[in-house]
Amino acid sequence: MSLHGPYDDNNIFAKILRGDMPAVKVFEDDVALAFLDIFPQSRGHTLVIPKHVRARNLLEMPADALGPYMLRVQHIAKAVEAALKPDGVFVAQFNGAPAGQTIFHLHFHIIPRWDNEAMKGHGQAPKADMDALNALAAQIKAAL
Ligand code: 5GP
Repeated sequence: MSLHGPYDDNNIFAKILRGDMPAVKVFEDDVALAFLDIFPQSRGHTLVIPKHVRARNLLEMPADALGPYMLRVQHIAKAVEAALKPDGVFVAQFNGAPAGQTIFHLHFHIIPRWDNEAMKGHGQAPKADMDALNALAAQIKAAL
């Protein structure tokens, strides 16, 4: 059911896209919106979501919209890398609740990783300090 089923227009990311919920944005154009995860698994954990599609997951993404969206995912990953200088970048995406998905609008996670710094578990990180998130967003935006 969570892998297949109707798109819920009231999912959190749909609300963020409509401007009904706030987000600490780092990038926006006609194809995608990128913003910081408020429960970051590492410093700079960023989410990239496609606009103008009702795709719950990667499997539902219209093929013609996938390429432009993935270009934005790479663009944001490069900016996060340039801004925060991690030793690695974990890019992740979950399809369906059994796979770990909790919000059913397609999104890629961009999670910077540093040597000898553990990443918090998916769904196990505490809420971020908003001042810290805004400072990180400014750094990432400056690297776009
Ligand atoms: P998923 O579990 O669906 O792959 O990822 C959903 C992500 O959204 C999680 O990493 C979670 O921390 C994040 N998240 C949940 N609620 C909010 C919110 O209200 N704002 C932001 N920016 N991120 C959220």
